[in-house]
Amino acid sequence: MQKTAHITFTEQSAVQRCMENERRQTYMIDGYPVTVQRWMRTGILFERTNRLLIFVKPSSSGCTLDEKELRSYFETNYGPVKTFGWTLENVATIEFDDYDSVDRAIITSLTHTINGITVRLEKMRSFNVRQAYENIVAPNDIKFCVHVTNVPPHISGEQLAVLFGSRVWDVLIRKSINADTDPFEAWILKLNTLTDAQQLATSVKTIDGINVQCNAEEEPLNEWTLCSGNRDGWCKHGNDCIYRHITCKYGDECMYDQCPFSHSTQRNIVPNPRYRSAGLLNSVEAPEMLEGATIRYFYLVRQAAEKLARKRVYEWHDYPIRPNYTVKCQLEYDRAPIEQTSTASSVNTNSYQQLSTIFARNF
Ligand SMILES: [Zn+2]
Ligand SMILES: [Zn+2]
Repeated sequence: MQKTAHITFTEQSAVQRCMENERRQTYMIDGYPVTVQRWMRTGILFERTNRLLIFVKPSSSGCTLDEKELRSYFETNYGPVKTFGWTLENVATIEFDDYDSVDRAIITSLTHTINGITVRLEKMRSFNVRQAYENIVAPNDIKFCVHVTNVPPHISGEQLAVLFGSRVWDVLIRKSINADTDPFEAWILKLNTLTDAQQLATSVKTIDGINVQCNAEEEPLNEWTLCSGNRDGWCKHGNDCIYRHITCKYGDECMYDQCPFSHSTQRNIVPNPRYRSAGLLNSVEAPEMLEGATIRYFYLVRQAAEKLARKRVYEWHDYPIRPNYTVKCQLEYDRAPIEQTSTASSVNTNSYQQLSTIFARNF
């Protein structure tokens, strides 16, 4: 299991020495190889990647940059370039030999001026991470998770992801109206085996000095994430369906006409159809900003499906929407309306709720 540690040096030259290529190949602790990378300030993709996206802003007179100019600028200043390509008319991708080249270019500045033309830089998610997202979102089977209770209210999904070696779209958070009486909880999702979950659960005891409880268990399964069209086996979307297809463990012998799981078309019982109220889906809520607040929150509430909510987090998290503004996302259950929590606090209201995803903030 991967662990991450942060080291702050007293001198900048120490960081430089630490990142020297020959040294970096040889770092070992107790016989395990250790990978080092520069710490990114909040708002910049922390993930290691060899790819840099370059947005060229042509000058008012229409002057722009060509491949040769871009290549030579980045090669001279940040190290060997492996490949170069134009993704769009004014958007280029550079692949460096070394991930540290990307970090050095980004740390220097998010905007660079080359021959009088301004370019904006962005780290591009590595192929591996995109692959990890694709693999994990597609399957419909139920996996395991670590259920964390008593989560300190100020902790973000991103911080939990780093702490548990997960990804931000695999961390689900439930906030409550009052954190004192009803502590926040979180689920670190998509763990392959119960053993993985158990190991991870024992590895974290406190978060920011607060004691937390971690339990390994099956992922929570919310009925509204299941495909109602596949209750009788007729959904044609297969793996691309935004709702989950989870086969009923009783198969076609299942006698329950309201059973939310998937059965085949051969089943004798006609399932009770269930319609979603489309008018309620996917609305944006932007709570009023408190005075002096530097973070602006937006909630995309009542997401139609879990897969869509996770996809939004994957696509938008760490997206620099404009200079000095980076979108941060996390996956949350919609907060229960006040009437619900005050009357029946023992009822698990999560099953009636859907997911929220986005919030944006500046730094
Ligand atoms: Zn379906
Ligand atoms: Zn069933």
